[in-house]
Parts: sequence; structure tokens; C-alpha cells
Amino acid sequence: MSWNLENTYAELPEIFYRKQNPEIAPAPKLLIFNEELAAELGLEENSAEIFAGSKLPPGSKPISQAYAGYQFGHFAMLGDGRAVLLGEQITPGGERFDIQLKGSGRTAFSRNGDGYAALLPMLREYIISEAMFYLGIPTTRSLAVVLTGEDVVREKILPGAVLTRVASSHIRVGTFNYIAGAAEETRILADYTIRRHFPETDKYVLFLREVAKRQADLIAKWQCVGFIHGVMNTDNMAISGETIDYGPCAFMDSYDPSAVFSSIDIEGRYAYENQPKIGAWNLLRFAESILPLLHENENEAVEIAKAEIENYWQNYKIFWQNEMRNKLGIEDEGAADAELFAEMLDLMAAHKLDYTNTFRAFPAVPEPLAEWQKKWQARFTCQPKKNPAVIPRNYRVEEALSAADNGDFSVMHKLLAVLRKPYENSDEYSKPPPENFCNYKTFCGT
Ligand code: AMP
Ligand code: MG
Repeated sequence: MSWNLENTYAELPEIFYRKQNPEIAPAPKLLIFNEELAAELGLEENSAEIFAGSKLPPGSKPISQAYAGYQFGHFAMLGDGRAVLLGEQITPGGERFDIQLKGSGRTAFSRNGDGYAALLPMLREYIISEAMFYLGIPTTRSLAVVLTGEDVVREKILPGAVLTRVASSHIRVGTFNYIAGAAEETRILADYTIRRHFPETDKYVLFLREVAKRQADLIAKWQCVGFIHGVMNTDNMAISGETIDYGPCAFMDSYDPSAVFSSIDIEGRYAYENQPKIGAWNLLRFAESILPLLHENENEAVEIAKAEIENYWQNYKIFWQNEMRNKLGIEDEGAADAELFAEMLDLMAAHKLDYTNTFRAFPAVPEPLAEWQKKWQARFTCQPKKNPAVIPRNYRVEEALSAADNGDFSVMHKLLAVLRKPYENSDEYSKPPPENFCNYKTFCGT
């Protein structure tokens, strides 16, 4: 089997997208190809031309998608400024996945951007999205990274690249923000999204509830591995509940609730500890956008939306506490658990303990947790689970990228191999960063 593309998104009214061919790359060169993902998709293809956008796969009706987004709280019209959706691959198992090229040139939504992507940020997305997948966290995936042969002008001249992103869809909260106010189109988009992601649901309130529930689950999982998304604008929140848009994201090393890595997040809006709150804020923007679908009476609709956000919080708490119980190997004892978690996390923050390694070492604990350990041990009933030994630590990712920058991909391949088995011990890859690796910063839209 190979390409088996459908283009159902391109059958929506034209307001949702623009037809868009990717640019022809002067010298495509395939740098990395995800064989395992390709097999799941039923793809034998690994043509550099196709993944650079120079040649269309059979059945493709390429488009760029329209969307808006609340960026750091402010509404903006956006859209795929550097991405083209080739179509939806139907897998041998009958599943549907968007195949999208990122960095394939200007589109109708590019505004002042050049439509390109530089190589290292695309490799970074590849590494971190793969790591997320193997940590069991819902995520878009990366199928290929291709050099285009075109230079990209940033602060320096950089090699241009295209990343092929695979997602269960690219419908965002921002897609609904974009169409908000147009009653008919909102309904069309909601119906389409429900068919695609929530076929068991026939009511819009349940649709909102399910979207919120998936976000609660996702963000609880982020918190429990120390993942900081970095730019939780509504255009970067997928309705499917997958992590999307690996720009300024990072995993934290030592535990710090206020951790922020993004160079532009001056006020820490998207800090680690704020992620659950931002999830709720974004879901409110989603609920507002579909308000007329929730109830014909606006006041009633607002009440429904509020109740669903309440539901989100309850779900979030349940999911997070369950994950934490797994991490600690304890049974549910209600309110006492919250206290146990809070006490541990406070000590971890005060003593800047390594988030990943502290959990991983259980039942051994570092000295500052010695007193706390007594309380925990009285509760401890089963082997702690879901504490990874390996996460994509920033210094390791940087090391892999800088070797790749010098043409050596072996460091990255070695890192990827370890990240595919995050629960296997690895002395080498579980070391916290060296002392001189500090003030790590990440960047958007690079
Ligand atoms: P992001 O920060 O990647 O979520 O992108 C925010 C918006 O900027 C989206 O509409 C992107 O399509 C757009 N964008 C980012 N980089 C570029 C670029 N190099 N050229 C055109 N548009 C871009
Ligand atoms: Mg984005």
C-alpha cells in the first residue's frame, strides 16, 4: 500500500482554506524519515521530492488552512503561513491522518513571513514530538525532514527545511475562533469536527465536554512529565487533544513551578504552573465561538459553557491526581493525597530537585524528602509506574542539533533511539544538565 489520500477538509466551504501548492524546492534531500510511522500510515514512500513539496503525491488537493487565534490573550487572524495540507492519508487500519508540509513556502496567510522553516527547529520538533509519543502523550508526529536546498534568512543565513507533520487533524480552537459569528459556517465546522473526532456524539454540548476532557487529560500528562508547551495560544490547541506546535516548548530539569523557557514569554503567561489555567482560558474562547450551538438562548448558553469549564477542572484534577498516584504507587485516599502531593512538590521546588529523576529513583528519595518519605511509605502499596528514566533534556537536544548542524546525525539518532524507550534506565541520558548549561531559552516561529 502507499498513498491513499482523501481531501475532506478541502470539501468544506472555501472560507476555511485556500488552494495552495507547495513551492518547488531547488535541491530536496531527505535527512530523516520515520520508517515506523510510515509503516503505520501504510506508506512506502520516502521520496525527497514529495516531502519537500516539489512533487504532489497522487490524490492530493493541497490547501492552506484558515484560522485565527488568541495569542498571549489577543485575537489575531492567522492561518497556515508556512504550511500546506497535502490531504488525509487513510491507513491500512482505516484511520485518517492529515499529512502536512511545514516550511514549504509562502501561502495566502503568510503576512510578512517568508513561508520557510530553518533546519534545526524542524529537527527539534521531530525529536520532541517523537519523545512525547513514546511517553504516551497524545501528539502530532513527524514523518520526515527534508533539506530544500534553499537558504532561509533569519538572524543568520540558515539551511531551509520542510517537516512533514502527521496529525489526527489540524482543526484548532483557533479554527473555531476564526469562524465565530458566522452561524452557518460554525455549525458546518462543528459537524465536520464531530464526524471526524467524536462520532459517538450528536450534541454540541457533549462536543464541548469531550474537547475539554481531552485537554484536561493532555495537560495533566504534560504536568506529570514536566513538559512546558511554551505558546499555548488558541491556534496551537488542537481540538483532537493532541499536543501541537513544537516551537518554544521544553522539558524542565529541576522542578520549578514558575519555569518558562520561551524568549518572548516575559510575563510567564505560559509558565509550567499556569498550563492548566490556560487550558481553561482557551476552552472558554472555544465555548464562546460555538455559543449559539450550545443553546438558542444566549444566557442559557453562557451557563452551559461555565458548567463545562467547571467539568474541565474536575476532570483535570482527577486525571492529574491519578497520574500522580501512579507515579507514587499509592491507592486513592481522597483528600489526603492532595496533601501528600503538595508537600512533596513544595520540597522539590524549595530544593530544586530534578523532576524526572526524583520520581524515577523511588522508593529511594533524596535527603530533603526524608521526612516526607515516612508519610509516603505508610501509603505506598504498589510499584510506582509511569516515571520515565529518559526525557528529551534540553542539553541533550541541543547537543544533537549542534552535531546535526555540522552534518553529523549520529548524535540525534542515538538520542532518538533512547527516547523511544523512555522507561529503560540509561545512566548517560538521565543525567541532569551540566552546571554550565543554564538560562536555556527557546524561540517561536523559527
Ligand atoms: P506559530 O508561532 O508557529 O504558532 O505561528 C503563528 C503564526 O505565524 C501562524 O499563522 C504561522 O503560520 C505563522 N508563521 C510562523 N512562521 C512563519 C513564516 N516563516 N512564514 C509565514 N508565516 C509564519
Ligand atoms: Mg502555530
